[in-house]
Amino acid sequence: MRVMKSNLLQRVAILVFLLALSGGGLISVALAQDVTPVLTIEHGANSPEARKQHYVILVSLDGFRYDYAKKYDAKNLQALAASGATAPDGMIPAYPSLTFPNHYTLATGLYPEHHGIVANSFYDPERKQIYSLSNPATVTDGSWYGGAPLWVLAEQQGMRTACFFWPGSEAEIQGARPSYYLKYDEKIPNHDRVEQVLAWLRLPEERRPHLITLYFSEVDHQGHEHGPDSDEVRAAVQAVDKEIGALEAGVKKLALPVDIIVVSDHGMAAVQGDYITLDQYFPDAGAFEKIVGSQLYAKSEADAQRAYAALHGKSDKFEVYRRSQMPTPLHDDRNPRSGDPIVVTTGPYLVRFSAPPSSGTPEHKQVGAHGFDPERVPDMKASFFAAGVDIRVGVTVAPFDNVDIYPLVAKLLGLDTSHLKTGPIDGDLRPLQGILRNRAVAAGN
Ligand code: AMP
Ligand code: ZN
Ligand code: ZN
Repeated sequence: MRVMKSNLLQRVAILVFLLALSGGGLISVALAQDVTPVLTIEHGANSPEARKQHYVILVSLDGFRYDYAKKYDAKNLQALAASGATAPDGMIPAYPSLTFPNHYTLATGLYPEHHGIVANSFYDPERKQIYSLSNPATVTDGSWYGGAPLWVLAEQQGMRTACFFWPGSEAEIQGARPSYYLKYDEKIPNHDRVEQVLAWLRLPEERRPHLITLYFSEVDHQGHEHGPDSDEVRAAVQAVDKEIGALEAGVKKLALPVDIIVVSDHGMAAVQGDYITLDQYFPDAGAFEKIVGSQLYAKSEADAQRAYAALHGKSDKFEVYRRSQMPTPLHDDRNPRSGDPIVVTTGPYLVRFSAPPSSGTPEHKQVGAHGFDPERVPDMKASFFAAGVDIRVGVTVAPFDNVDIYPLVAKLLGLDTSHLKTGPIDGDLRPLQGILRNRAVAAGN
């Protein structure tokens, strides 16, 4: 596999090389990728079967709560909903309602306990290592990631894909990567991201990605800093809505068979009260092999039981469970990476094991947060909009689990999900079948 990083010098060299070699045919590849620093993996052309398929742009608006489009009058998203499908009462995120677990759930159709990215940061008691979203060494290491993300599924079936950011997209998973992707850099302006997506769709048919992911973080960021009811969130919603408009307008000009799906990973709630600090109930940090935030990795069964007993029934602000007894809807009883015992807050409360050592300056506390059980905190619900050649006009769907996005996208792209080496997925197309036009329903796989 060959990785090409398109920095300026290389791009000039590639251009000259391609000019000399191909007399023009491939040059648009290099030019089309000029917008941002794209990494290219040479997987060859789309297969003849892949070329017959439509195109899907899967957009994620981080932290875009299910009611934001209406609440903040996001005109383009509302128009997208009117011209296609939406879930007015929200899409249900997986627990914990955090960024990495949920993006990777959207990409794999698996609950976090099954795909293994159980939190943004967690400990693996078998590997004796910590995974963290802020550590590029773990983010780019495919051995942490289970399942077969949509871009891997597509690449394995001869279809080219591109990721303008998505948790997991920088790692080689099941021996595959997207044909085009970028190293995560939140400073790349949103508009450049849209321009890049449109440039990818202008590539020659053989090289043109059929699945493209696109990601925007600022609504989440403003939600944390200022809370879901702030003018800052309103402005961020308006800003990403403008980019959705630009994306749609650009796509329209291309006259390609495209479906645009806009989702979010979770919602946002106004934080209530002060931190819950667990060591006031159980001060024995020595009982744990590791503590990552509020995730507790007990040294032994006896230590886990002691911690559980000490925390149990102590506050109406949280429940504590032994991992094996986690309530079924939370889908979190299988993976040792989640720790044991597990603390689940009953409302939008921040929880930690211990207070950090005092630094003299006041502690920065988030105004908005997520991660909570979506059943107990409905503000965790995420957004869903879809419109395009395969989507019926003006349809609404009842709340559904976000694991169902995977079979939807696979269906739209004509990908076969019946022989996954990684085992069956948790998602099910049925809750979304009604949004499909007949053509897509009929083109079964
Ligand atoms: P959360 O703490 O769950 O709100 O996580 C959101 C954070 O994840 C944001 O600060 C993003 O910048 C970061 N993030 C999103 N996507 C990626 C990615 N692909 N690689 C690294 N960090 C990311
Ligand atoms: Zn997020
Ligand atoms: Zn967040």
